[in-house]
Amino acid sequence: MELYLHIPFCRSKCRYCDFTSWSGRENRMEDYADLVIAEARERADAIGSMAVETVFIGGGTPSTVPAETMKRLLDGVFRYFPPAGGAEFTGEANPGTLTKAWLDVMIGTGMNRLSLGMQAAQPELLRLLGRIHGMEDVHASVDMARAAGIRNLSLDLMFGIPDQTEALWQESLEEAVALEPEHLSCYGLIPEEGTPLKRSLDSGELSLPEEETERAMYDEAIRFLASRGYAQYEISNFARPGYACRHNIGYWRRVPYLGLGISAASMLTADGETALRQTNPHTWEGYEAVIRTGRGREEETVTGEDARFETLMLGLRMNEGVSEAEYRRAFGEAITVRYGDRLESLRARGLLLHEKGVWKLTRRGMDIQNSILVELMD
Ligand code: SF4
Repeated sequence: MELYLHIPFCRSKCRYCDFTSWSGRENRMEDYADLVIAEARERADAIGSMAVETVFIGGGTPSTVPAETMKRLLDGVFRYFPPAGGAEFTGEANPGTLTKAWLDVMIGTGMNRLSLGMQAAQPELLRLLGRIHGMEDVHASVDMARAAGIRNLSLDLMFGIPDQTEALWQESLEEAVALEPEHLSCYGLIPEEGTPLKRSLDSGELSLPEEETERAMYDEAIRFLASRGYAQYEISNFARPGYACRHNIGYWRRVPYLGLGISAASMLTADGETALRQTNPHTWEGYEAVIRTGRGREEETVTGEDARFETLMLGLRMNEGVSEAEYRRAFGEAITVRYGDRLESLRARGLLLHEKGVWKLTRRGMDIQNSILVELMD
């Protein structure tokens, strides 16, 4: 099983962000730790103990939570769901909020992977995004993490930012690689409804790079990172050999996961191909009510056709693709029974590859993966 813990606090809210996170609620962090520990107890009572193979502490900005609070929270959760020996344990942090005390506590509780939100190398782009940090903070955070003993470091970068040129993107890639992370995530900016950035785009105050420019940035990321020893293993993720993120791969392979905290989702396999997905409320009050009553999670049963489609959709995100043997093991039938014609048609058009019992997207297929998924769903 994978364990995810959501920390809904940030120093200040970035202009593009629609994740569940708040700034200015530092006085609620201790209460939040109590709620999450209570949820872990409730979940352990309900589902029993399961081996935890990966842990991911995400958010929000986990590094805004004081070290002592974080320790109390993790000790409390791990009492019910202790990580197995050799588990991958990632903590997310943002430059400008990371401290040695936080790193020491996290490493002391087992953290062996750090994911840092660098996003861009240029102060003007970071400002435009509403980020609180500069490149000097990224350097300081990386140095601090290495000195504390982190041997598996990931940096997040963003492309498709207003005012970002291909040359600026190249500079961000180069600066990131110069820091020698083991892993890099490159996400295209998606302007989400209701965010200040979306309003600036709608009003014409800002504009996004042309679609063609954005595609060129993505292509450049793949080319440049490959030339520096980072293999793409998923649409947005690149790693040095042996450093692909096990937690994310588990998610794409539909390994059961338990999410604790506000807005966290869980998928605990019930039996065979049927899975129950549950999502915690996105509000503080709603989450508190779930902890008090044990009820109020949004629930969805994923079964039959939906489970099969999900397996394809998530599997095709990864460069290793969807294995026919694994599909047969999960669903007791060949992938061709339901998808044969559609897979074949996509292959004939150069959008899918079929090799050694595995289906995967071609480079061209990756660019238009959404329309491919629509076609597979029909
Ligand atoms: S740091 Fe991350 S979670 Fe927090 S506001 Fe910025 S983008 Fe959102």
